[in-house]
Amino acid sequence: MRWKDQILKLTPYQPGKSTDEVKKQYQLERIVKLASNENPSGCSNKVKEAVQNMAKYAIYPDGYATNLRNALSEFLKVKPEQLIFGNGSDEIILIIARALLRPGYNTVMATPTFPQYRHNAIIEGAEIREVPLINGEHDLDGMLNAIDEKTNVVWVCSPNNPTGAYISESKLIAFLQEVPKETLVVLDEAYYEYVVAQDYYNSIRLTENFDNLIVLRTFSKIYGLASFRVGYGVSNANVIRALEPAREPFNVNSFAQVAAIAALGDQEFVQACSEQNRKGLEQFYTFCHDHNLSYTPSQGNFILIDFNVEGNEVFQYLLERGYIVRSGNALGFPTSVRITVGSEEENTGIIGVLKQFLTEKAALS
Ligand SMILES: *Cc1c(COP(=O)(O)O)cnc(C)c1O
Repeated sequence: MRWKDQILKLTPYQPGKSTDEVKKQYQLERIVKLASNENPSGCSNKVKEAVQNMAKYAIYPDGYATNLRNALSEFLKVKPEQLIFGNGSDEIILIIARALLRPGYNTVMATPTFPQYRHNAIIEGAEIREVPLINGEHDLDGMLNAIDEKTNVVWVCSPNNPTGAYISESKLIAFLQEVPKETLVVLDEAYYEYVVAQDYYNSIRLTENFDNLIVLRTFSKIYGLASFRVGYGVSNANVIRALEPAREPFNVNSFAQVAAIAALGDQEFVQACSEQNRKGLEQFYTFCHDHNLSYTPSQGNFILIDFNVEGNEVFQYLLERGYIVRSGNALGFPTSVRITVGSEEENTGIIGVLKQFLTEKAALS
């Protein structure tokens, strides 16, 4: 068969070990998964109520997600036609790549950052220009320098996964003013609801001033709906209209639409999760300070900690004791691990194991 050359070079997404596998392999009773930035509090109780009463399994979902669209347009104060929905924001990344990237054109992104930008760009055969982070932050000047008349998409992840660093309002606006109008700026804000930085921007309002900006958000992270798969993009109506044909007609299932409406309606839950997350991050900061470990201050619900040893070593040590995290090896930070902020108890637990790791390490050296 005549596969695209680039497809043969890619490997499928490697899911982490399942909790059941880990349980069995290391004969553990309890596993705590702090690897995928999921919400330790689950989701709003309103979601469970809303989804329970859905019985029309044989009926296709609403391909326009009308009710969700209306609820979100009211919530964000944008027009309904400024929204696009995806089977997770992952799918919106795919739709954008599909609509804009192709051989002969290029795309600019930071590195390390969320891997799906690169992955989809490879499939579409576009040239990839990666600009290294500086101290965990996007090098926006470097990214501007990498943009030319053949750049169709520039990806900006703020807060950035896996570092947790954000971009300040003044820096982002200065950047947007310099990006050519023919280049789409994708601002991935999967962790937006966790941000507390005072000099953060209002991205939705920025879409009014910058016609080439699309903001991506998701119900997978703070809203705790990762299993339903629903994310969205906000831009001006022209960008949305151009992207829509690249979207599958029934991409967001009925349960996801109903769940997202219910979740959106419980902002108290969101607020409580955000506050709990700040407290959790403080637990990790204190641990890092006490043990002289460097980390990037995080605006997300995860923290990248540098242990100054092969990241896999810490990963493996934690795994054998029932904690699943992301090894920095896979994330472009070979001596670090990325830990999702869990409940207070989960954080205390993993920090205890990490202290034990450091003590054993010190005794060996
Ligand atoms: C988790 C994540 C996503 C994907 O979220 P889904 O909506 O579940 O597809 C997108 N971008 C970043 C930066 C993420 O961390």
